[in-house]
Amino acid sequence: MNLQIYNTLSRKKEKFEPINNKHVGMYVCGPTVYGDPHLGHARPAITFDVVFRYLQLLDYNVRYVRNITDAGHLENDADEGEDKIAKKARLEQLEPMEIVQFYTLSYHKAMKALNCMPPSIEPRATGHIIEQIEMVKQILKNDFAYEINGSVYLDVTKYNEKYPYGILSGRNIEDTLEGTRKLDRQSEKKSAVDFAIWKKASPKHIMRWPSPWGEGFPGWHMECSAMSEKYLGKTFDIHGGGMDLVFPHHEAEIAQSNACNNCAPVKYWMHNNMITVDGKKMGKSLGNFINLDEFFTGNHKKLERAYSPMTIRFFILQAHYRSIVDFSNDSLQAAEKGFIKLITAMETLQKLSASKSSTYSVKKLEEKCYAAMDDDFNTPILIAHLFDGVRIINSIKDGKESLSLSDLDKLKKLFNTFVLNVLGLTSAKENGGNDLTNEVMEVLLKIRSNAKSTKDFITADLIREELKKINIQVKDGRDDSIWQLKN
Ligand code: ZN
Repeated sequence: MNLQIYNTLSRKKEKFEPINNKHVGMYVCGPTVYGDPHLGHARPAITFDVVFRYLQLLDYNVRYVRNITDAGHLENDADEGEDKIAKKARLEQLEPMEIVQFYTLSYHKAMKALNCMPPSIEPRATGHIIEQIEMVKQILKNDFAYEINGSVYLDVTKYNEKYPYGILSGRNIEDTLEGTRKLDRQSEKKSAVDFAIWKKASPKHIMRWPSPWGEGFPGWHMECSAMSEKYLGKTFDIHGGGMDLVFPHHEAEIAQSNACNNCAPVKYWMHNNMITVDGKKMGKSLGNFINLDEFFTGNHKKLERAYSPMTIRFFILQAHYRSIVDFSNDSLQAAEKGFIKLITAMETLQKLSASKSSTYSVKKLEEKCYAAMDDDFNTPILIAHLFDGVRIINSIKDGKESLSLSDLDKLKKLFNTFVLNVLGLTSAKENGGNDLTNEVMEVLLKIRSNAKSTKDFITADLIREELKKINIQVKDGRDDSIWQLKN
């Protein structure tokens, strides 16, 4: 195995050597379920879906844990403000768990559309309150935390005497203090760098549980420490998430694990970079906040038209996960063209006939594909190699190159492996339909095109009108008709 992974902790690429031989534990921070899934959810999900898929291709047995945050994540990502889910529940006059259920389902629907494989375990914070309380108890016992007025805080200054605080983000205590507001008078923390691992619930706070320190709720960072330990052990292989989680969330996870178990929780920390829209950070106030459903339907003033989930997926994978991805109509349309070219070549590949000998080395192409993925999951380089394959496919079709039967089979296998299994791209989802719908539509359009060629316009129009009634729009092009689901 030659897999190299860039480790945020060491700031360099390292050879991947799992702790437990063929078994790999991977934890990825999942969504806080209080709003529609958007691009910020799509990128880590797709990034770590490809990691999950590629590790499996390399024959690793991967346990992939991705959590659902359904309690404890406060508005300002720190120790103050309202719980994000409770706030939404208050505004919508619903139970917090109704909010959680609704947005968990929409998240799953979006992930399925993007062809992300479900994780092996998807634990929820509220399902692991006991584990979180146990961990807080142990941290108190180890004397790295203090209780005050029913809340428990990790004592970062004391922690820093034994373990280096800030090793992941590169921020030390002084930097952090500078970036934090001065403690206001009401604050009960000893220092502004300390963070809550358990919070006392105010009388208004609805999501609350009994604990040795009175009724309260876990600090946001606590759930990932407790759930990753429960399912993957005290130290596991890969922890992933968006770059915005490095500080404070992942830094806090490291501190909590050291303070509780006296060992570092993770061997390889991986972080995907951010997404911008038209060169700007996404934000509700900037009017460039586009959720995934709006991309799929084209229903947003910034979008010239709809973009299929596979176009979004392909577009994200055209960049390395550690680079910024910038969304614009132009770049999405370019990605769509590229994606269609790739899928069309795969269809052509199925119809090619073999020659006696080969003018091209499929083996070399295969080696290059593996080398690209082995180099810290370099999907843009992989895609470039696959397009080299596309060029060859089209040359064979034109009779300019040739492949032997065994090479042709090898090329088919290579495309299936890397396009379908590793990149997770599928051809069927282009119109928002599934495989069967696509096949049935192909049949219908064929009948309609035959009717047109025999000037049977009654049948041709009937097909179009009947499809319109079930929200399928048929558009006639110069040589061909296309269809799409209307929303
Ligand atoms: Zn997390």
